[in-house]
Amino acid sequence: MAIKVKNPLVEIDGDEMARIIWHMVKDDLLRPYLDMQTVYYDLHIKRRDETDDQITVDAAKAIAQYGVGVKCATITPNDARVEEYGLKKCWPSPNGTIRGILDGTVFRKPIVVKNIPPTVRTWKKPIIIGRHAYGDIYKNQEIQVKGPGKGELVFTPADGGNPIRLTIHDFKGPGVLQGIHNTEKSIRSLARACIQYAISQRVPLWFGAKDTISKTYHAYFRDVFQEEVDRHKAELEAAGVQYFYTLIDDAVARIMRHEGGVLWACMNYDGDVMSDMVASAFGSLALMTSVLVSPDGPMEFEAAHGTVQKHYYAYLKGQPTSTNPTAIIFAWTGALARRGDLDGTPEVVDFARKLEAAVIETIEGGVMTQDLTRVAEGPTRQVSTEGFIGAVKERLESKL
Ligand code: NAP
Ligand code: MG
Repeated sequence: MAIKVKNPLVEIDGDEMARIIWHMVKDDLLRPYLDMQTVYYDLHIKRRDETDDQITVDAAKAIAQYGVGVKCATITPNDARVEEYGLKKCWPSPNGTIRGILDGTVFRKPIVVKNIPPTVRTWKKPIIIGRHAYGDIYKNQEIQVKGPGKGELVFTPADGGNPIRLTIHDFKGPGVLQGIHNTEKSIRSLARACIQYAISQRVPLWFGAKDTISKTYHAYFRDVFQEEVDRHKAELEAAGVQYFYTLIDDAVARIMRHEGGVLWACMNYDGDVMSDMVASAFGSLALMTSVLVSPDGPMEFEAAHGTVQKHYYAYLKGQPTSTNPTAIIFAWTGALARRGDLDGTPEVVDFARKLEAAVIETIEGGVMTQDLTRVAEGPTRQVSTEGFIGAVKERLESKL
């Protein structure tokens, strides 16, 4: 008997090898066991071109409407892609468009398996990084100062009030100067998305900034974050989620001797740097999932990796591939578990957990794709993409 998924999921199809795997996963691991409706948006590069990218906007709006989406990797066009697919223009990154519409924050969560130990010995559970993806040095203005002169910070109120003018530095010779900003709205959205996701994952929420040095800018982040935490106190308490603010240096030092299982909210630059460190220490891009969380609650799940173009060209030539479907499967299980949570259907959550366990046990049993045989400890047997999905299916069936 198929398990009924009460409300629809928004399904966003994509490109190249990721798209091939997407359909294998659906046909072999989901459709036979689930009675599931999806609201389907095909973001294949050609479909985006035909619709002048309207399909991407529609898909994002559908996630806001239905609350849960699952997305396949998509090509972000560059000049080579415009030529390859004969595109009308170099369309923007779909992830950027969707993130903008949902005002979302991206969380990266590694999948932990025993025979691929993290580089950091104490890490036992996933460390989830929430990166603020607006402002700071990513929307800055910079001047290379050629010689003596005064660098100033000036704010001119729109209501005609007196400008505020501060001297940054009196240059005696050459140097550099930078202006950065952020907005209350964006910081609040970050805090709310982090709170939502920490509650959904039942993990402690950490936030670190350098408020001892930046007593206005970083302190503002700390204060706005704290206000949102206070505003959501009851929900956080009900979920047993603790909030912890500390200096960014202290957060870094603690993370290196922590066991994991936390959501670490980061300012933009910290998140950029730390997410690469954490991802690389957890072993493989194909074991990294990504969740876009809107401050109002809607979530979109995906694999962090791209369309795996090189493997696709091999696939098109009829060569066997050993592409890892793990993060794509976990995008689906993440979305299904969230759907089940929202719908109050624990049997759907249970199916998602069983499928995740089947994947983890397959890898821990030594059966894995090529990317993992390179980094795994102990005996391994390399299988094809299809071979891996087949092995997962066998384990899944033994659990149902
Ligand atoms: P990629 O698709 O992530 O692949 C980079 C390399 O990482 C692959 O060549 C492969 O290495 C390895 N890899 C990634 N995923 C793997 C998997 N599941 N199994 C095994 N190996 C895996 O990144 P890219 O080549 O830079 O980008 C290709 C396209 O994806 C681009 O058009 C880009 O715009 C798009 N992209 C989309 C998203 C998204 O939609 N979220 C994210 C990133 C990139 P080996 O070749 O050494 O085996
Ligand atoms: Mg980075």
